[in-house]
Amino acid sequence: MKLAIILTVIFMIGAIVYWRIRPYLAIARRVMATMRAIQSGGERRGATGVSGAKGATGEKLIRCESCGVWLPASRALEDRSSGGSSYCSTDCLEKSLVRSQRQRRSAVR
Ligand SMILES: [Zn+2]
Repeated sequence: MKLAIILTVIFMIGAIVYWRIRPYLAIARRVMATMRAIQSGGERRGATGVSGAKGATGEKLIRCESCGVWLPASRALEDRSSGGSSYCSTDCLEKSLVRSQRQRRSAVR
C-alpha cells in the first residue's frame, strides 16, 4: 500500500515537472534545429529561397552551350579545349565540337 502511494507521488511529480519543462523543451528543440540548419547552410537557403541562378540544392546552375538547358554545375560536362564551355550531355558536347569544326573549316575556305 505504501509503495503504491510512493509510486503515485513520483508519477505526479514527474508529470508536473514534465508539464513545467514542456515549453522549454520545445524552445530547445527549435534552437537545436536552427543550429543544425546554420551548420549545414540550410538556414541561408531557407531565408532566400530559390532565386536567380541557384537551384534547389543551392548549387550554381550552368547553361548547356548546345541546347541551352540549365543544369547543376556538378552534373555539367566541361569542355576545357573550347574555353570552358559546359554541356548537359556527351551528345551536346559532340554536337558542339562538330559544329565548331565545321565553322573552322568554312573559315579556312
Ligand atoms: Zn545540351
